Amino acid sequence: MLHLNMPLAAYACDPAQSRGRRFAQAPAPTRSEYQRDRDRIVHCTAFRRLVYKTQVFLNHEGDLFRTRLTHSLEVAQLGRSMARSLGLNEDLVEAIALAHDLGHTPFGHAGQDALNDCMSAFGGFEHNLQSLRVVDQLEERYPQFDGLNLSFETREGILKHCSRSNAEQLEQREPGGVGRRFLERTQPSLEAQLCNLADEIAYNAHDIDDGVRSGLITLAQLQEVALFDDFRRQALAEYPHLQDKTQGRRLLYETIRRMLSAQVYDVIDATAGALRAAAPASVQAVRQLAPLLQFGPDMRVQSQALKTFLLHRLYRHPRVLHTTGQARQVVAELFAAYLARPQEMKPRFLARCEAARGAPDAMSVSARVVADYIAGMTDRFAGREHERLTGMKLL
Ligand code: MG
Repeated sequence: MLHLNMPLAAYACDPAQSRGRRFAQAPAPTRSEYQRDRDRIVHCTAFRRLVYKTQVFLNHEGDLFRTRLTHSLEVAQLGRSMARSLGLNEDLVEAIALAHDLGHTPFGHAGQDALNDCMSAFGGFEHNLQSLRVVDQLEERYPQFDGLNLSFETREGILKHCSRSNAEQLEQREPGGVGRRFLERTQPSLEAQLCNLADEIAYNAHDIDDGVRSGLITLAQLQEVALFDDFRRQALAEYPHLQDKTQGRRLLYETIRRMLSAQVYDVIDATAGALRAAAPASVQAVRQLAPLLQFGPDMRVQSQALKTFLLHRLYRHPRVLHTTGQARQVVAELFAAYLARPQEMKPRFLARCEAARGAPDAMSVSARVVADYIAGMTDRFAGREHERLTGMKLL
């Protein structure tokens, strides 16, 4: 097993070999291209909004639940520690991880589903594509260009999924760009593949913690999940005092800690094996191969069982479904209100609608502007706006 720092491997992304930025910029004197991307992400407005966006539990339900921001930091931590052992580029992993959820709507998946429904006649709404829109177009920070002008490799990692029709549109705007791989069905860099797994490992673990904290799932129920229960037993065997009822949180954390470590080591082992077998000599070679970043077969099954448990016991818990129902209503009603009265949006969004007035696609442009406006909102701003526009206080 690899535990130690590895030098950057031949199959890793090398910032000196980056495919570059859409708008050419001179290199920074003290930072690599990917460090610069990460810094741009940390300073952008959409990143700060993540602190008030729902992961699973709505923001006002408690101060200690994960938000999109703390989730993104956990993904970055897990991603970096795996990257180090695999000889991958830690800075790129960090940049992708910190940006991967920038396009999420308020109110978590309920918000995304509602906005996608509202946009069904206008090309739909997809949070991965929205993350790319945030860093490519929506951030307004530079005099010379829209967006953050990130490097190709960071943008490639941010666009984790993409429908064929969206990929075709991206390809038209940027031939050979980040949409191409969805048309050719090739893979992204290993750093991008790693962020997807780090995301899954992070939310599986923190949703257990938040689920227990909320009282919606119990330690007793978690005993159904082999991955959790094996490590709970191990922890109890080593520290019998954790049996005591007052020690529940320590037992939970010790179990989650062991579970996280086991998954991290499993990914490193399984991936190192796949890399030895495939021996890609460059990131270009990686892109042509099947996905190499992976769990071992046993951990894949166990992780899936944990996901299924969380789906049934937590994400579909009646209390969660009740608040997500309200969240869907807020998003749908905000969408209708702004589409009817664009002047209720901030001036820069209204200006985009007005610029399209009279054009054959004016309606679809306005709908996209409204979607961009709503997607950028924090939970509480969306709740306040809904109350201002409808007189109803739902969330
Ligand atoms: Mg995520």
